[in-house]
Amino acid sequence: MIPVTTFAGRTVALFGLGGSGLATALALKEGGAHVIACDDNPAKMAEANAKGIETADLRKADWSRFSSLILSPGVPLTHPEPHWSATLARQAGVEIIGDIELFCRERAKIAPNAPFVAITGTNGKSTTTALIAHILREAGRDVQMGGNIGTAILSLEPPSDSRIHVVECSSFQIDLAPSLSATIGVHLNLSPDHIDRHGTMALYAAIKERLVAKAGLAVIGVDDPTSRAIADTCEGTGVNVARVSVEPLSGKGVFADGETLVGVTDSDAAPIANLSGIGSLRGAHNAQNAAAAVAVALALNVSPEQIRSGLQTFPGLPHRMEEVGRIGSTLFINDSKATNADSTEKALKSFDDIFWILGGKAKEGGIEPLRAYFPRIRKAYLIGAAADEFAGTLGSDVPHVQSGTLDKAVAQAAADAQALGSSAVVLLSPTCASYDQFPNYEVRGNHFRDLVRALPGIEAKGA
Ligand code: ADP
Repeated sequence: MIPVTTFAGRTVALFGLGGSGLATALALKEGGAHVIACDDNPAKMAEANAKGIETADLRKADWSRFSSLILSPGVPLTHPEPHWSATLARQAGVEIIGDIELFCRERAKIAPNAPFVAITGTNGKSTTTALIAHILREAGRDVQMGGNIGTAILSLEPPSDSRIHVVECSSFQIDLAPSLSATIGVHLNLSPDHIDRHGTMALYAAIKERLVAKAGLAVIGVDDPTSRAIADTCEGTGVNVARVSVEPLSGKGVFADGETLVGVTDSDAAPIANLSGIGSLRGAHNAQNAAAAVAVALALNVSPEQIRSGLQTFPGLPHRMEEVGRIGSTLFINDSKATNADSTEKALKSFDDIFWILGGKAKEGGIEPLRAYFPRIRKAYLIGAAADEFAGTLGSDVPHVQSGTLDKAVAQAAADAQALGSSAVVLLSPTCASYDQFPNYEVRGNHFRDLVRALPGIEAKGA
């Protein structure tokens, strides 16, 4: 835990006890603050109480007592409309911040030079965060990884000059961290997402830009126009920028030439690593993530040999094109995190001869945007509520069957793929939310993994 000593003796309001909220309350209390916490869910309030955190209905509180409102990133600050706690705080002139800000202030106080890598972007944040942490750990560094990826930032070990914090930041977390100034800021890419929570694309981009604009080194993916503009602006204001791309670069940075990652400095361009055969980093999207991770590792003086070894041994993250196992030449891939067409596209692009399991609660537009990849699909297995809609889109272009359940789909797809006799892929990439059949995408992916691991003849990966 990182006790938050910068609030010692002060009284703070905290709203949102799910996720990182409770850890934040405990870190504030440990550092000597008086925390009054609140949540819409009474069970969360009771849990906090049991851990010694004072709770109250903040609607009825005297806000003049509070020096800050610590808001959970899941709670709307501005859009679609401000949460009542944010409105009350603003009316009382109380600052509204989040746990990343508390970390930044504590770091500034106890170890201002402690290496701090912050990662954001619309897609690929978790993969890049995990990959950076993995490469650094394999190179023998003392690494603490957390933030949006899982462990609450204040549950990590405290910053120190010999320890690197690698922290995934969502736009909501950046919005609540006005003094965020990382040693290395990474911004991967930007596409319309969460616009409902940020109002406009311009506001969303401005929030992401804050993470890199104040970094010692800004590692910026330049493959979309908005992110390219962010890189230009940063450079224009004197920020040290390393660009990342899947197209050749002329300026400083790292780019992917097919599967080869090339480092470009002011004086030369040299290949650093090759992604070929690394199952956890398939596809151009992962080349972008890997290029960003390599740029960070180089900046932290990790040797090219250590970088290559870290890339080779990266286990990947569960549910994102995760290799579950093989039966002979048939590969089984769990891409349960793919809940929309954009994500599934990455998987369909990465394989041929696909036996595709899909369905669940459909998103707007369904699988229509994936039509260009239909020739790669040998057969589709439809599950869940979207089955009829998807059957309509597949029509006579793709052989398909109404499997109904994941259990049935796995059995059918495994049998058909093996009957093909050449290399085939059974791919769960649902292009749908899971709520109609599973509590979340993780439960869905875990169930797929269990089903595959129970198949006769399976050589399971990482079992
Ligand atoms: P995030 O943490 O930003 O949600 P993840 O690393 O968890 O990102 O990846 C989620 C999904 O996003 C992946 O399954 C893949 O479909 C897609 N993805 C990953 N990296 C990228 C990238 N660099 N560009 C575009 N899409 C990506």
